[in-house]
Amino acid sequence: MSQALSTDVLIVGGGIAGLWLNARLRQLGYSTLLVENASLGGGQSVKSQGIIHGGAKYALHGALTGASEAIADMPRRWRDALAGNGELDLTGVRQLSEAHYLWSPGSLAGNLTSFFASKAVRGRVDQVKGEQLPPALQHPKFKGKVYRLAELVLDVPSLISRLATLAGDSLLAGHEIAPLHDNNQLAGLRVDGREIRAQRVVLSAGAGNAALLASLGISQPTQQLRPLHMVLVKGPSLKPLYAHCLGGGPKPRVTVTTHPAADGQWVWYLGGDIAEAAGVARDEAAQIKAAQQELGDLLPWVDLSSARWATLRVDRAEPAQSGLVRPDNAFLADQGKLLVGWPTKLALSPDFSDRVLAALERDGIQPSQPPTLPELPRPAVARPVWEELLP
Ligand code: FAD
Repeated sequence: MSQALSTDVLIVGGGIAGLWLNARLRQLGYSTLLVENASLGGGQSVKSQGIIHGGAKYALHGALTGASEAIADMPRRWRDALAGNGELDLTGVRQLSEAHYLWSPGSLAGNLTSFFASKAVRGRVDQVKGEQLPPALQHPKFKGKVYRLAELVLDVPSLISRLATLAGDSLLAGHEIAPLHDNNQLAGLRVDGREIRAQRVVLSAGAGNAALLASLGISQPTQQLRPLHMVLVKGPSLKPLYAHCLGGGPKPRVTVTTHPAADGQWVWYLGGDIAEAAGVARDEAAQIKAAQQELGDLLPWVDLSSARWATLRVDRAEPAQSGLVRPDNAFLADQGKLLVGWPTKLALSPDFSDRVLAALERDGIQPSQPPTLPELPRPAVARPVWEELLP
């Protein structure tokens, strides 16, 4: 039988939400253990596009929504952390782009007057031309307008690695998770037979939260999954592009981010409307064809003749909303010692941590003397999806 452990906060799930929370708690002096049953970041986090949204995308339909308000401060918090003077020290995390761009292929589409007037974009959007354009759009044939948003794009694998370093000895690879009760009250968890007692247990297991809640006999909160069918394209002629291409609707027609492959080539990762319902309904071949057509229409000067293509199906896991809409903020619910939530966006991980910290403060949970931990089996960091799919 493995040695029993105790900790202030036991976290289940090592995606961005759990890892960010773990690092923040440790910095505040709490002892923590984080249990991961696969690889760190390997759920949604390393499959994300790494855009640290300030909410501009959500203001596309003109209305200033709750999401636009809540998310507006996130780029600043992330920038401070990346510069080493924020709530976490994220120095060394690779920043792929200082800005994300809004790109309108023709005349300005949709209700952009109110968009530019909305709080989420006010003072943050500048039109760029000529040499200021993203490299992939610098071509004589390029027509259209491009606006620079103050939203950075991160290399998520390097972010996950940094947070794994900040986790120190608190990471535990574990598979079988069962509740540990004292007098019918949750006292912690049993992980692969090892008792771990904690003042609080946080479930931040993304799509895994639903099964974990079920194993604890808890039915609320319920989870929704919203599927995406993303496209990856890798080729020697690709140049960096970080942009939402506007169509007429509330969602970007296509959102392109660009990621460095180990062999020195760039990989374009395509999301936005192309990856939503119609894209989810297409099989892999049809989805690749749709993406080829879209890029051919939008960027006819880009030579894709020797490009390699792949698609990736992945679900966004979130608290259930009526009508499968996207929730506005990070979400946290608590029942006694158990807290459970979803950040709903990578960019909103700081907000997720704020909510956990507020719950600890409300309940008077203080850091205790950190226990000496035995050597624990450590989970690996996930490989980038582009290396998995287009090696
Ligand atoms: P995850 O990253 O899924 O992590 C959960 C972890 O829990 C996983 O490592 C998993 O293995 C582990 N786990 C599951 N079950 C168990 C268990 N029983 N025991 C132990 N561990 C368990 N957001 C942005 O802000 N910007 C973007 O550009 C962006 N792009 C996206 C693109 C795509 C294609 C997708 C799908 C999402 C995107 N998002 C983006 C959203 C963002 O990726 C997610 O909101 C965020 O990564 C969720 O983090 P998480 O830690 O909750 O979940």
